[in-house]
Amino acid sequence: MTLPTHTRAAVLRAHGAPLVTEEIPLPDRIEPGAALVRTDCATLCATDVHLWSGAMTFPGMLPMVLGHEMVGTVLAAGEGTVDALGRPVTAGSRIGWSESTCGHCHGCTVLRTPVACEHRGYGFLQRSDRHPYATAGLAEHAYVTPGAQKYLLPEEVEDTWAAAAGCAVKTVLHAFDRAGGTRPGSSVVIQGAGALGIVATAVAKAGGAGPVITIGAPKRRLDLAEEFGADLVLGLDEGPAARKEAVLAATGGRGADLVIDLAGAPGVGAEAVDLAAWGGRFVVVGTTGPAPQEIPLGTVMGKELTVLGSLNGDVGDYHRAIGFLRDFRSRFDWDALFGEPVGLSGATAAVEAMSRLEQTKAVVDPRLP
Ligand SMILES: [Zn+2]
Ligand SMILES: [Zn+2]
Repeated sequence: MTLPTHTRAAVLRAHGAPLVTEEIPLPDRIEPGAALVRTDCATLCATDVHLWSGAMTFPGMLPMVLGHEMVGTVLAAGEGTVDALGRPVTAGSRIGWSESTCGHCHGCTVLRTPVACEHRGYGFLQRSDRHPYATAGLAEHAYVTPGAQKYLLPEEVEDTWAAAAGCAVKTVLHAFDRAGGTRPGSSVVIQGAGALGIVATAVAKAGGAGPVITIGAPKRRLDLAEEFGADLVLGLDEGPAARKEAVLAATGGRGADLVIDLAGAPGVGAEAVDLAAWGGRFVVVGTTGPAPQEIPLGTVMGKELTVLGSLNGDVGDYHRAIGFLRDFRSRFDWDALFGEPVGLSGATAAVEAMSRLEQTKAVVDPRLP
């Protein structure tokens, strides 16, 4: 079989401008431990929207291809390529993957925390005019580098679900892990009703927490949160005072044992601390970027709160995400999270729809026209 030397990709050349569909090179050699895949599905994450708009930017990052949640079918694998569990990856394997780690730095070896890798390679750190060119989702083919953790996917997990596990779902599971999980009957407030907030609602409910309270907007997303297990949903138009009253009423006047920021909106930190119960935990996941946020430290002290940060997740979280999606597929309608698949020509519209909160998770199938 002749392998492609180039691939069609939706390239981000200027922030806020339409993506340009063009041919970009593929590496001419597949290194040991690497794989060349045909991308079967990519789902978009809020980070893609921020990179597109320029809200998130790095010097010299363009041109690049968006998309860091994807699955593909292996066309060819390098010598000795195995997945994260040591299973051989060969032509025809259906795999998910995400960022690469080096395995040799302080973060990888001393901290033993892959997300702290000093050489972590994410799709959005890869320029499309430099080797290995095509590592991201919005392209017909992708090169999966030797350092990227690959994962053979079980049949029961749909392409869209597995793609979303590559960032959104594993990020949520990592956040619960950082928080030490939830106890049956413990109260949880989820700030945010985007894809992460909805998945977190499901994780909390599946873990026996209650009440699970999800805060967000618009109403369509809150309706979805209810379908995914929220006992109570609170809109943004209600204001913080009314929301606090509602949370206290739902928790016997105590507040929430666990609050997770999956919103990143101004004011979430102060509200989280305000809504937390005595001895509660607050995990910051959704707030990114350099803008400071105020947190009343006196309340953190007075309620003996534990405040934790949580960044993305590693392949262990990915493994658990795939298992969670598979095992709870009859309880939660995962398909309800995803939009109608579009081809690369529809990718710009998909990113724009995400930016207007019209879609929870946009889906790009590069095999479509
Ligand atoms: Zn490393
Ligand atoms: Zn992401």
